[in-house]
Amino acid sequence: MKTEEFRKYGYEIIDWITEYYRNIEKYPVKSNINHREIFNKLSDTPPENPEEFHKIFNDFNEIIMPGITHWQSPNFFAYFPANTSFPSILAEFLMSAMAVQGMKWETSPAATELEERVMIWLRDMLGLPESFSGVIQDTASTSTLTAILTARENISGFDINNKGLFDYKKLRVYCSTEAHSSIEKAVKIAGIGRKNLVKIPVDDKFGIIPELLEKEIKKDREGGNIPLCVIAAIGTTGSTGIDSIKETGIICKKYNIWFHIDAAFLGSALILPEYKWLIDGIENADSFVFNPHKWLFTNFDCSAYFVKSKELLVRTFEILPEYLKTLSDRKVNNYCDWGIPLGRRFRALKLWFVIRSFGVSGLQEKLRKHISLGEYFKNEIIKDGNFEILAPVVANVICFRYKPSGINNEEELNRINENLLHNLNRTGKLYITHTKLNGKYALRIVIAQTNVERENVDKALEIIKKKAVI
Ligand SMILES: *Cc1c(COP(=O)(O)O)cnc(C)c1O
Repeated sequence: MKTEEFRKYGYEIIDWITEYYRNIEKYPVKSNINHREIFNKLSDTPPENPEEFHKIFNDFNEIIMPGITHWQSPNFFAYFPANTSFPSILAEFLMSAMAVQGMKWETSPAATELEERVMIWLRDMLGLPESFSGVIQDTASTSTLTAILTARENISGFDINNKGLFDYKKLRVYCSTEAHSSIEKAVKIAGIGRKNLVKIPVDDKFGIIPELLEKEIKKDREGGNIPLCVIAAIGTTGSTGIDSIKETGIICKKYNIWFHIDAAFLGSALILPEYKWLIDGIENADSFVFNPHKWLFTNFDCSAYFVKSKELLVRTFEILPEYLKTLSDRKVNNYCDWGIPLGRRFRALKLWFVIRSFGVSGLQEKLRKHISLGEYFKNEIIKDGNFEILAPVVANVICFRYKPSGINNEEELNRINENLLHNLNRTGKLYITHTKLNGKYALRIVIAQTNVERENVDKALEIIKKKAVI
C-alpha cells in the first residue's frame, strides 16, 4: 500500500468508525450466525497476488461484520464489558502507527516513563498504598499468574526458579468457591497443581468465610503442606461478591502467606470515595490487579498489576542475555523484567489519553451513573413482582431470575430462565449472560458499557418483562 493510498483509506475508515458508533444499536448485539458460516465464506487459499484494499474492505463489511458481537453497543449487558472510549481508540491508532516494542527503557524511553507515571496516577486514584509499584500486563489472568510465581519464588528463596519444584512439599493456594477460573489456570501453569488449590466456601453474600480459610491453612501446616498464597476477590465474576480484605489479610499476615487481590472488574469503583471500604485492610496485601479494560473505558488489553515489593517481582522474572544488555539497566525500569513476555505494547498511551480526556471527575461521574442505573434496574425488577434478586447488588451487576407465582420447583425454574435468556438474546436487542448461584440459574445483567443510558436500561426492562411468560 502506498502512502497516499493509506491516507485515503485511513480517512475512509475513520468515517466508517464514526458511522458505526452512530448506528451501533441497529446491529443485533449478539451475532446470531451459524457455526462455520463465516469460515465457509472465506477463500480456501491465500491470494497469490496483491489485492486491492477496497476489495478487502468490502469483504470485511460483507463477510466479517455479520459475525461480530457488538461489545460497544449500549445494549451489551453480558459477562463483564470490554470497554473502550474515543480517546482510547485514538491512542490505539497511534500505538499501531508507531508500533513500538517497549520491552526495555532504551527501546522507547517514553513508553517506560509514561507507564511509570500513569501507574502512579492509577495507584493514587484507587487509594492503594504508596509503597505499591504498578506495571501494565495484558490480562488479569497474567497478573494473577505473575503474583503466584512471585509468591512461589519468595517462599523458596528463588530456589524453584533454579531447581524446579522437585524438592518441594505441596504448595497450597486458597481462594473462595466463587473465585475466577484464571486462578485455577495459574495454579496449573505454575506447577502447583489444581489439586492444591483449596476452594473455601462462601457466606450468603458470596464472600469468603475467613474462619474456614484459617481452618484449612492450619490443617495444611499440620499436615506438612506449605500455604503459599491466598487470593481474595473484590467483586467475583458471578455476582460481584466481596471477600473481606481486612479479615483475609490478617490471616495471611499471621501465617506469612502471600496475599493477592483480584479486583478485575470492580477495582475501577475504588476511584469513588464511597467504595474505598472495599480495600479496608489493603496494607496487608502483597499484590493487586484490576482491569482498566473492563470498566475504565480503555481498550482491551490493559490490566493494571500492583505489587508491594518490586524487587521480588523483578528477581522472579529478570533474565539478562548478552543481546539484551543496555547501559541503563540498573538505573531505570525495564518492564520486560516485570512479567512474563519480553515484548510489550505501548499500552500506557491509551490510559494516559483516557485519564486526561475524562479527568478523574469525569471517570467518577461515568461510574456513578452506571451504579445508579444498576440500582434503578434492581428496583424496577423488584417492583414488577415476578422476579427475584439472587445476590446482593454491590454496584451495577444484578443477578435475578424470573419466578412466576406458583412455580417453586428449582429444576423447572432453571429451565424457564435458561429459555428466557436465549429468547432475550435472540431478539438482538440486548445481550445478557447467566451464572449459577447456589444451584439457581441466574440471569446476570451488567450495566457498565461506556455509552449506556437510562433509555437502554428501560428498553432492556421492557423486553425482559415481555419475554418473561410461561
Ligand atoms: C474477568 C475476570 C478475570 C479475568 O480477566 P482477564 O483479564 O480476561 O484475564 C479474573 N478475575 C475476575 C474476578 C474477573 O472478573
